[in-house]
Amino acid sequence: MSTEIKPAIVKQIVMVDLQTQYRRLQKEIDDAVLAVMDSTRFIGGPEVDGFKTELAEYLGAKHVIPCANGTDALQIAMMALGLKPGDEVIVPTFTYVATAEVIALLGLTPVMVDVDEETFTLDLNQVEAAIGPNTKAIVPVHLYGQCADMEGLMALADRHGIHVIEDNAQAIGSDYFFSNGRVAKSGTIGTFGTTSFFPSKNLGCFGDGGAIFTNDDELAKMAAMIASHGQSKLYTHDVVGVNSRLDAMQAAVLRIKLRHLDDFIARRIAVADKYDAAFSNIDEIKTPVRDKRSKHVFHQYTLVLNGVDRNGMKEFLQENDIPSMIYYPIPLHKQKAFVNSDSNRSFAVTEKLCDSVISLPIHTEMEAEQQDHIIEKVIEYINKS
Ligand SMILES: *Cc1c(COP(=O)(O)O)cnc(C)c1O
Repeated sequence: MSTEIKPAIVKQIVMVDLQTQYRRLQKEIDDAVLAVMDSTRFIGGPEVDGFKTELAEYLGAKHVIPCANGTDALQIAMMALGLKPGDEVIVPTFTYVATAEVIALLGLTPVMVDVDEETFTLDLNQVEAAIGPNTKAIVPVHLYGQCADMEGLMALADRHGIHVIEDNAQAIGSDYFFSNGRVAKSGTIGTFGTTSFFPSKNLGCFGDGGAIFTNDDELAKMAAMIASHGQSKLYTHDVVGVNSRLDAMQAAVLRIKLRHLDDFIARRIAVADKYDAAFSNIDEIKTPVRDKRSKHVFHQYTLVLNGVDRNGMKEFLQENDIPSMIYYPIPLHKQKAFVNSDSNRSFAVTEKLCDSVISLPIHTEMEAEQQDHIIEKVIEYINKS
């Protein structure tokens, strides 16, 4: 009996290679984390304050309020706006669940709209059609690392007196280019921006973390107060809040990673460029559209398949030691948790995307041979199917 041993052609491929990235930055990160342990300032303190200031500087945002995760960041932003049960918040139906979850949790009504077929972000015509007397906020999601049409959206929101909360969990570090030449970092354009430092995000920590950004002094104060039990000063509670903190060890890791964020983004874009070049002439594959109005920071590299058996391709890639993911297989309006009168409406673009997208490995540590192997196997599957 002989056991076939597959030769390891390339270093094991993962969706996001956090381990190699850690090893590359290990000395810096270990020193910083050990220093926090030695200081025993685990909550608040100089690391959290330092990160707050450095992130605000990087983003060009007036205020950064760190919190426990990206979901809390959305919730705190909505609480700070004083949204009340019955208020409606417009969200894309093609997104991660967190966006709609906090809306429902606060007793607000999520109103789902479809996305644009090219950018996978909010379709502004549909947003406009969904605005009613109870609409209080719109949450664009900068999906996969590409900004929604923020110039158009802000004009629309301003016309109707509606707040915009940018869910920037997938696009931190992206630039948005306005038609008048103004450039702003994603997440700093709306009333609030929110982000997540979940380990696999473009700026990830070693656990959970998140932050809220705003240029409004009063709203910043309110959000900070809400994140800290509604406390205005010690043991004085002005509003009902939550307990949502970024701890000092995570802040220490993030301060180091923030210094590398532009390099991380450049590495991701280089991987995307190489995929684009390899797949550009294949009819069955649509490569990501890069909207000229912003810089795509490629949290995900997501193909749209046309006439290809997606499950078959996923399995074929897996047999060749290549992981892939479907972000997202089920749209929000079809999720049991959010089934309502909207659920029978048609969201044609989202429904098509949920059936045809596939995300390939992309991260800061991709080796040329690894990516060559992925490209070769994707093309091999298309050619034989
Ligand atoms: C990751 C993510 C979140 C939630 O972040 P957590 O830190 O996991 O709570 C919210 N929105 C989007 C679009 C995300 O990708």
